[in-house]
Amino acid sequence: MASNRRAFLTATAVTALTAAPATAAPGPRPLPPSAAHTARAALDELLAGNRRYAAGHPRHPHDSPGRRRLLAAAQDPFAVIVGCIDSRVPPELVFDLGLGDVLCMRTAGQVLDEAVLGSVQYGVQELGVPLVLVLGHERCGAVAATLDHLRTGAPAPGHLELLVDEIAPAARRTRALTGDWAEHTMRAHTAWVRDAIRADPAFTSAHVAAARFDLDTGLVSLLP
Ligand SMILES: [Zn+2]
Repeated sequence: MASNRRAFLTATAVTALTAAPATAAPGPRPLPPSAAHTARAALDELLAGNRRYAAGHPRHPHDSPGRRRLLAAAQDPFAVIVGCIDSRVPPELVFDLGLGDVLCMRTAGQVLDEAVLGSVQYGVQELGVPLVLVLGHERCGAVAATLDHLRTGAPAPGHLELLVDEIAPAARRTRALTGDWAEHTMRAHTAWVRDAIRADPAFTSAHVAAARFDLDTGLVSLLP
């Protein structure tokens, strides 16, 4: 997408979301440099940042006052990340990113709902983001809660029921496999979320991938 087109969409979308007065609509503004505008470049940038993070050599980019001022009028993130709320997996840190780099949707177990899908759609359609990455992680608490529910049959309390209901199909599909049931479930569920986003006609303009974060090494690996 041409940069002018992106700038226009960005400005109009931001205006719509913030309900700014029509008279305050901004003119074209320079967008931050270095944003990746293809899915391949976006994925490469994420994985390169993750390698820096895992190696203990993060750059902590894009967190300066200058960057903040540059982004004040418009944003141009290069990826949408659908990840878990887990406090050990904050996308901006594990991918060594900063302000304006990615849109993050985080729910326990990266469970989808309409609010998440609407947010992804905003990124893909309004901001022209080329990549959606679904990020699961090992030893996920939402997966563990789902397995406990399936083992005991005890009902999930309150709002947790939605999380269990969404993750349970992956747990049932992988229950007979040898090895770590939680790991199998996390991988199957994360791939299912990826496939659900891929299959949605709202997201055909974006490449959708899935990945696993390793809590021990800090490394992200793509899922098949
Ligand atoms: Zn989790």
